[in-house]
Amino acid sequence: MSLMRSLLLAGSESLWLRQRAPNLPFVKKAVRRFMPGERLEDALTAAEGLRQYGIGAVLTQLGENVTDLVKANEVTRHYTEVLVNIGTSKLDCQVSVKLTQLGLDVDEARCYANLRSLVERAKERGTFVWIDMEQHTYVDATLAIYRRVHCEFPNVGVCLQAYLYRTADDLASLIPLGGGVRLVKGAYREPASVAYPRKRDVDGNFLALAKLMLAPDACAAGARAVFGTHDRRLIREIQRLIDGRSAMREACEFHLLFGIQRAEQARLARERYRVRVLISYGEQWFPWYMRRLAERPANVLFIVRSMLSN
Ligand SMILES: Cc1cc2nc3c(=O)[nH]c(=O)nc-3n(C[C@H](O)[C@H](O)[C@H](O)COP(=O)(O)OP(=O)(O)OC[C@H]3O[C@@H](n4cnc5c(N)ncnc54)[C@H](O)[C@@H]3O)c2cc1C
Repeated sequence: MSLMRSLLLAGSESLWLRQRAPNLPFVKKAVRRFMPGERLEDALTAAEGLRQYGIGAVLTQLGENVTDLVKANEVTRHYTEVLVNIGTSKLDCQVSVKLTQLGLDVDEARCYANLRSLVERAKERGTFVWIDMEQHTYVDATLAIYRRVHCEFPNVGVCLQAYLYRTADDLASLIPLGGGVRLVKGAYREPASVAYPRKRDVDGNFLALAKLMLAPDACAAGARAVFGTHDRRLIREIQRLIDGRSAMREACEFHLLFGIQRAEQARLARERYRVRVLISYGEQWFPWYMRRLAERPANVLFIVRSMLSN
C-alpha cells in the first residue's frame, strides 16, 4: 500500500479530522465531485438525470458506526422514507446500507430487525437492498445477518471484497443461496494478515472471483452478480466473459460511483449492459470521502486546486 494511501486511510479514521475538516469551505467544495449534495432530494435529482442514459441508481445515506439505538432507528426510518419516495417517484432506484449505521456495534438483534424491516418495505415497493461490507472485523456478523434476511426475502444482496483472503470461501458459500453479490476491491485499511497488500494481487483475485460469479452453477442457482468497479481493464475482461451469453447479461450488472468514470458508465449503458450508479448523500461524508481520495491519491490535487481557487 502506498504511503499516501495509508495516510489518507488513517485520516479517514481520525475523529479529530472528522470533526474539523468537513467545515472547511475548500473541502466542502471538493467533495461535490463525488456527491451531488447532502440532501436526499439532491440524490433523487441526480438519479433522475441518469435515467435518460438508461442508468439506474443505488442511493446511500452516508454514515457509519452509530453508537446508540436512537440514531440507528432514525437511520432506519430515513431509509423507510427513501423507499416510499422511490416507490412514488417510479425511479429505478435501490438502496445500499451499512450495518454499523443500523446499529451493529450496539445491538446485533436490533440491527437485524432494522435491516429486515427495510428489506420487507423494499419488497413491497418492488426494489432491492444492498448491504455494504465494512472492515474485516464485521464480515462474519454481516454475512450472518445477510443469510438470515435472505432466507425470507429474495430482494437483498451483500458486498464482498476481493482484497480479503477469505472472500473465495465466502463466495463459494453464498453462490448456492442464489442471492445478490456485489464484488468490489475493498476500501479500508486492512492488515496483511487478512488482506492482499499488493494491488495487482487484489486485481487478480477480483477477476478470479468474477469468473466464479459468472460460472454456469452460479447462474443456475439464480445468483445475481454485480461488479462494483471503475477498473476499465477488469470491466473489459468481465465483458469478454459475459458476451454472447444472453442469460448471463441479464443476470449481471456493473455498479460505479457517482462522479467516477462517467464516460465508462455511459459506454456500458449504450452497449446495453445493466448499469447502476451509487449516489451518496448526507452530512456524515468525511470518512467516506477520505476513502475516495485514498483510491486515487491524485484526487488530492483537486482539493489543492479547490483551495487555491478560494
Ligand atoms: C458500487 C460500489 C460499491 C462499493 N461498495 C463498497 C463496500 O461496500 N465496501 C468496500 O470496502 N468498498 C466498496 N466500494 C469501493 C471499492 O472497494 C473500491 O475502493 C473502489 O471501487 C475503487 O476500486 P476500483 O475497483 O474502482 O479500482 P481501482 O484500481 O482503485 O481504480 C481503477 C480506476 O478507476 C478510477 N478511480 C477509482 N477510484 C477513484 C476515485 N476515488 N476517484 C477518481 N477515480 C477513481 C481511476 O481511474 C482508477 O485508475 C464500492 C465501490 C463501488 C463502485
